[in-house]
Amino acid sequence: MKSAILRLYAELNDFLPADRRHTPFSRAFGPGTTVKDLLEGAGVPHTEVDLILANGKPVGFAYAVRDGDRISAYPVFESLDISPLACLRPQPLRQPRFVLDTHLGRLARYLRLLGFDTIYRNNFGDEELARVSAAECRILLTRDAGLLKRSIVTHGYWVRETTIRRQVAEIVRRFDLTSRIALFRRCLRCNALLEPIDKDLIAARLPAMTRLLHREFHICPGCDRIYWRGSHHGRMTRWIEEVLGIGGDSRAIEPPPGKVPPDSWAKPSRLRPRELPGPPTI
Ligand SMILES: [Zn+2]
Repeated sequence: MKSAILRLYAELNDFLPADRRHTPFSRAFGPGTTVKDLLEGAGVPHTEVDLILANGKPVGFAYAVRDGDRISAYPVFESLDISPLACLRPQPLRQPRFVLDTHLGRLARYLRLLGFDTIYRNNFGDEELARVSAAECRILLTRDAGLLKRSIVTHGYWVRETTIRRQVAEIVRRFDLTSRIALFRRCLRCNALLEPIDKDLIAARLPAMTRLLHREFHICPGCDRIYWRGSHHGRMTRWIEEVLGIGGDSRAIEPPPGKVPPDSWAKPSRLRPRELPGPPTI
């Protein structure tokens, strides 16, 4: 059996068992094995890789691995222009848009809260997720690394973190989204961009106190939901700022109190009491 020496860099090591991280290791392969096969056989989805060197020279995913090759693989830098050597994949997505797998419903709502175009359905199948990602040039975020091994998926990312705070921080950092954040612009439920609406037109749908206290309202053209800046707005803004300032300090990460953000900034529960406090039903 032929073998090659594989060395993974930076976060690509997340896919390896502890004893193989940050160190060269041997990997056996059969006839016709491409370097994409070799990497994915080691557990690394191709969407996570942006540069492969074989014996010091850049190669594409289709490169046929040869006995004794030394293969180095480097991760995607979605947010940065890396050198012309990064010829493996299409250009980085300059306007990051996302499609999320069925396990990431809360993250979908938070990304919408931050203003990012995010498609999520709790009944998406793997096939459909991959198709939507490819057809609409959306970054596929998933907790299933296997999903990213599908060849039609060119932009994808395996979400490492498991708590919502860390996930939000991880994605913002990973895709360098901070400067693009636009809070409270998008419907949390259906992803449409909100539009201002005259209070008189929706006054009959508002709770009495809301009608008294607020003047500015937005409506979702997709699902007709009404939004306004209720008392939770400030708390949510602080929460987001805190989350994005997390860095690597795990002490800062505690479960948010009660039913936090997405649903509460506009208190839609007063309009549709049966919708809260349930999970997303997008
Ligand atoms: Zn909507």
